[in-house]
Amino acid sequence: MDVKTSVGELKDLVRNFVAAREWESFHSSKHLAMSIAIEAAELMEHFQWTDADEGQVLLADAEKKLEVTDELADILIYCLAFANQADIDISSAIKSKLDRNEFRFPSIQK
Ligand SMILES: [Mg+2]
Repeated sequence: MDVKTSVGELKDLVRNFVAAREWESFHSSKHLAMSIAIEAAELMEHFQWTDADEGQVLLADAEKKLEVTDELADILIYCLAFANQADIDISSAIKSKLDRNEFRFPSIQK
């Protein structure tokens, strides 16, 4: 599904969901940024007291993986809502940032 769905389509889905509930007035940059952090904390909570190996074991549990997937979706939905609210082109932003990171952290592969 990821290979067939564009970022623009996902942004439209979030925009339409928000508009249908008239939530635009609640979606300030501040509130959306806070919501991203809150949902990220909810994702981290699943791994709070696990080491790296235990985290992998946790993800092998189908029910736990679904809970983690839901938290990741929450984060991404708020990221898309933030991009909609702030008129940010996510694809350009990611490519630009990766280009700069390529310069900062050169590949070690020959
Ligand atoms: Mg959540």
